[in-house]
Amino acid sequence: GQAQAGEFPWLRFYPEGVRHRLDYPSMPLYGLLDKAARERPEHPAVIFFNRTLTYAQLNHAADRFARALVRRGVRPGDRVAIMLPNCPQFVIAYYGVLKAGGVVVNHNPLYTAPELEFQLNDSSCRVLVALDMTYPTVRQVRPRTRLETVILTRVNEYMPALLRLLYPLKARRDGTWPEIRENDDVLWFQDVLGEGGEAGGGAPPVPVPVEPDQVALLQYTGGTTGRPKAAMLTHRNLLANALQTAEWVLQGKVDDGPRHRIMGVIPFFHVYGMTTVMNLAIAIQGTMILLPRFNAGEVLKAIARYRPTMFPGVPTMYVAILNHPDLRRYDFSSIESCVSGAAPLPLEVQEQFERLSGGSLVEGYGLTEASPVTHVNPTGPGKRNGTIGIPLPDTEARIVDIETGTRVLGPGEVGELVIRGPQVMKGYWNRPDETERTLRDGWLYTGDIATMDEDGFFRIVDRKKEMIITGGYNVYPREVEEVLYQHPKVLEAAVAGVPDPYRGEMVKAYVVLKPGETATEQEIIEFCRQRLAKYKVPRAVEFRSELPKSLIGKVLRRVLAEEERKRAPAA
Ligand code: AMP
Repeated sequence: GQAQAGEFPWLRFYPEGVRHRLDYPSMPLYGLLDKAARERPEHPAVIFFNRTLTYAQLNHAADRFARALVRRGVRPGDRVAIMLPNCPQFVIAYYGVLKAGGVVVNHNPLYTAPELEFQLNDSSCRVLVALDMTYPTVRQVRPRTRLETVILTRVNEYMPALLRLLYPLKARRDGTWPEIRENDDVLWFQDVLGEGGEAGGGAPPVPVPVEPDQVALLQYTGGTTGRPKAAMLTHRNLLANALQTAEWVLQGKVDDGPRHRIMGVIPFFHVYGMTTVMNLAIAIQGTMILLPRFNAGEVLKAIARYRPTMFPGVPTMYVAILNHPDLRRYDFSSIESCVSGAAPLPLEVQEQFERLSGGSLVEGYGLTEASPVTHVNPTGPGKRNGTIGIPLPDTEARIVDIETGTRVLGPGEVGELVIRGPQVMKGYWNRPDETERTLRDGWLYTGDIATMDEDGFFRIVDRKKEMIITGGYNVYPREVEEVLYQHPKVLEAAVAGVPDPYRGEMVKAYVVLKPGETATEQEIIEFCRQRLAKYKVPRAVEFRSELPKSLIGKVLRRVLAEEERKRAPAA
């Protein structure tokens, strides 16, 4: 039925033709790939450097991979670890696992042994897909896990370009990798595809049927705030978010999908890249352009060469591109929208980027627990810089009071953002207490402090946990960071609360200057003093050559605060 305008105040900001209520086919996520392969077999699905995979080829490989997994004993619900950067093998393995009825567990290929061991054991994975060059880490932890099968992709043989980009410092001069030993019990990706054979003749039938409410993915989150926990995302959750974001891209023009090319540089092992590049591209039967690692120059080259229409990224990527010396030499004209998510986008960065690149940079918002996208700005004149935009179709969003979380607040009032919609997770894997705290009456408590304006545009104030309390005043680091980004010499900035004997916490700024610039602590403090109330002004500024970042490129304020605590003399 039609929603009331009161229920969805933001409806009038959807471009004409965009629906706010969608139909979700009752099928597993992999149904999208089967459909694309049926309807557009020869259309390019994946571009990876000079290679292209069509939808028929991609689907065929995923089926083979699935058959091989079933032959090797993977049963519905079994967890399979994928530890790969963006490459065709990631997409094949991901859809192959789902088609075998399995559950994907994503791992960053750069994990250290303790991180990997924790996640493999917490999810009890029996199969792992990885790069040969990361096998030494796997070998180290393997005896203490339940891993039975390890499938490796040869970086050297199949992905020389990846090798160059991914680990430029580690690559040996002769290009060889001594990682694999005679007695290592590993399988090769290509051989596994071979084992999968063709359909019929006693081969296990794939895809294995799966109920939409079954878990498709365990996605770990919160690694910087204690023990990581896995969000359980179902086929229905992931399919819904792919279709919700598709509605945003297509704006009602349903046949427009195949012409879209999505730049895939944010990692697929993070839910943001997984949904807004990989699953979205498949949902609209468009093309994904994969890069295994972010490098501003490589991204600019790929944009000029492959002419993507869409480029989802994180703020630090846009900062790097904006400050690339050759930015103006590259042609951005193919890009209809750059989308920034995962972390606050400083207004100054957004405006500069739009001015210099000539493209439009649109902010959205999401979190792992929501598959992840819940909000995005409309494209075109409806967008409002400095906001995360409006909720996606079928997504309800409210601001509730911070203390009890039960009182719904009105426009302009500051509170916690809560979300309800088909993309919200089933719960955390094996963490009933955390699930109960986070999911209440079907609402996801995001832990983010936000406001909604009269028109239903949302603005993130900051994370609940990162608010600084200094001398009884509340300071949101983000507000101070916004000011620092206005300083012409500042490239990147972060603000954190550090222990202070008088004020409890003190506001401290960490600043990376633009190449060739110098500045004094006093100069930065003075700049802030002219723009902020006294209690918000940083009392100390530390200049750094870089800031600690998460796997996807979020600046980690908590790591900075943690360092300070360690440095502080015990009280
Ligand atoms: P993750 O689950 O790792 O993707 O982290 C989700 C968190 O990232 C959210 O709870 C927010 O704190 C933050 N976040 C995501 N998008 C934005 C945004 N546009 N502005 C500010 N914070 C954001």
